[in-house]
Amino acid sequence: MVSGVNGVAAALFATLFPSDCRLCGNPLLNISRLPVCDECVAAIHPICEGVCAICGERLAAPYAFAENSGEARCGLCRRLEPPFVKAAAYGSYEGGLRELIHLLKYDQVQPAASVLGRMLAEAIADLQPLFGDGPVLVVPVPLHARKLRQRGFNQAEVTARAALKQGSLQGNLELASGVLERRRETQSQIGLSRHQRRENMRGAFAVTRREKIEGHEILVVDDVFTTGTTVSECARVLQRAGASKVFVATVARTLKAEPQFAVVATKNEIESAMAAAG
Ligand SMILES: [Zn+2]
Ligand SMILES: [Zn+2]
Repeated sequence: MVSGVNGVAAALFATLFPSDCRLCGNPLLNISRLPVCDECVAAIHPICEGVCAICGERLAAPYAFAENSGEARCGLCRRLEPPFVKAAAYGSYEGGLRELIHLLKYDQVQPAASVLGRMLAEAIADLQPLFGDGPVLVVPVPLHARKLRQRGFNQAEVTARAALKQGSLQGNLELASGVLERRRETQSQIGLSRHQRRENMRGAFAVTRREKIEGHEILVVDDVFTTGTTVSECARVLQRAGASKVFVATVARTLKAEPQFAVVATKNEIESAMAAAG
């Protein structure tokens, strides 16, 4: 009976407001504020390959272990200790997930935030065993005031809010949006070297309320981890302001097409791994 009524309502709705999935173009069958079909959402999967235990970059081989911790680390995280304890991401920044993020960010389709928030909550759940007993302040990567006016909302903040509403997250997570600000607009990072990206970001962020940060664990959240320069700069600024630890969670992460070799013991192992990878 109920489903019959819903069916009639859905048919009526589809007649009155015909709409297609913004990802695959198939007609939407269910009433939803999100213009994306269930199949397209269901097709978005979490990253399941071996990744760097610190930054989440894709790794080439399961034998990539650090001597001390027994955790797999990419070459970059072994050479330079990142300013965050660990960065977790839900999915690879490609396909449907990339499109869903763009719907929110560039097309202002705000209902996408609830789906992305659910994914962000899973990334945060990955970090939870590392959190201490005290409160963890959730700090969305801020937009510059001008960008914020233009877009009307900060996608990192609305996604963080949606994530914190998920019942799956336990503990003492507290949204702290205003503690970090973006002082200046930065040019696109595309095509810049790692050093240039870091220079480009220098001074972009500032802590506005030091007393909120001092001695606290901070979780920086953003929609996408691309090169890590943005979240690393946020983490650096927060650490300088006295944060005890900084963690990073993002909905998506850019994964290198070629898996990164981590610690490789012998030339033979490299050769056999490359042979196995074809
Ligand atoms: Zn679809
Ligand atoms: Zn790494």
